[in-house]
Amino acid sequence: MRYSGRIFDGVSLWENAEIEIDETSGLIEYIEDVKNVEEKYKGLTFLPGLIDTHMHFFGTASYSLLDWVTTSDVLLTIRSVNDARRLLNAGFTTVRTMGDKVSLGMSKAEKAGILYSPRIVSSGFSLAETGGNDDPKMLDLETAARVSYSYYCDGPWECRKAVRKNLRNGAESIKVYASTSFVGGGLIKDELTTEELQAISDEAHRVRLKAASHAYGASAIDNTIEGGFDSVEHGLGLTEEAAEKMLKRKIFYVPTLAVYNRKREDVNPYRDEIIKRHLEKEVNIAFNSGVKIATGTDYVGSDNEPHGNNYIEALLLSKYVGPLEALKSATSISAECLGRPELGFLSKGKVADMIAVRGDPTTDISLLRPENIVLVIKNGKVQKKELN
Ligand SMILES: [Zn+2]
Repeated sequence: MRYSGRIFDGVSLWENAEIEIDETSGLIEYIEDVKNVEEKYKGLTFLPGLIDTHMHFFGTASYSLLDWVTTSDVLLTIRSVNDARRLLNAGFTTVRTMGDKVSLGMSKAEKAGILYSPRIVSSGFSLAETGGNDDPKMLDLETAARVSYSYYCDGPWECRKAVRKNLRNGAESIKVYASTSFVGGGLIKDELTTEELQAISDEAHRVRLKAASHAYGASAIDNTIEGGFDSVEHGLGLTEEAAEKMLKRKIFYVPTLAVYNRKREDVNPYRDEIIKRHLEKEVNIAFNSGVKIATGTDYVGSDNEPHGNNYIEALLLSKYVGPLEALKSATSISAECLGRPELGFLSKGKVADMIAVRGDPTTDISLLRPENIVLVIKNGKVQKKELN
């Protein structure tokens, strides 16, 4: 397959270029400058498939912890399959899940070619301490452990075992809770000791997987850095000192702006102040210090926030870093964050995940809205085509 036109390759823009995709290998044959582009592709922009590095397939109707853990597996799977379809049609060719009950199975189905879905880099179950962030404490301990999407582990060896259970089940990423969050309305506090965090990241790195850490608060971010993690997720409370350390250690920042821009019905001055600082200061601290920012929505796939509009993360990020930089984040930088450099970049030998958009998203990210995506190619195979 050969396409020609305006191409954003994941890093820079080619005004008139041609790209050749080998359907059999699923790889890109070449990309090169040309004088003339095909008439039918004029006005479009080709770019790498979009990546959401932080999301969940909770497949629930409401945004509530109890619902997340008690919705039946059948129902949440059906809802999640629909979410996967919407994501792929919206131009997302890769997503990373950060703890849920269905994404390991969905990832296997996608690899087997029996699920219409983005490629799913699944973290399997998240890891948390007993009584930790997403432990549904309204249930008794045994029931909570049985229905949760987290493994609760205490002490380095239990933590290593929890990683190994995920690996045994096919996880391709590891996600940990290094702090609480605002779910449940409490104050934020650190979770898991540095020793436990180090055990988890070490166990992930032994099999060359990336380890991601949910961190709310400056000390949780510090523990994440000292714990040897590859990305700080959410990262509320980021300081310039922490950003400097992250830059040195090549740790990614995933500010999950989409969830913090969500309309909230309740008022919580404590929470709202922390979010305000995150949105007004911390994203700029990360960007100005040179830390790489990846796109992750933290959408869970509930009725009030269905998957499909995940481009919003790049749109929000573009307000800080500009559209071109935000597009890099949503493609090549996110691929790097996942430890998958073969993705997110259109050049010879890379995996042919490519989409086409009406207009030029390198100047306006809102053009990435789902109805504007006219072509989706994953692994060199056309998934959606609304072109002549
Ligand atoms: Zn999350």
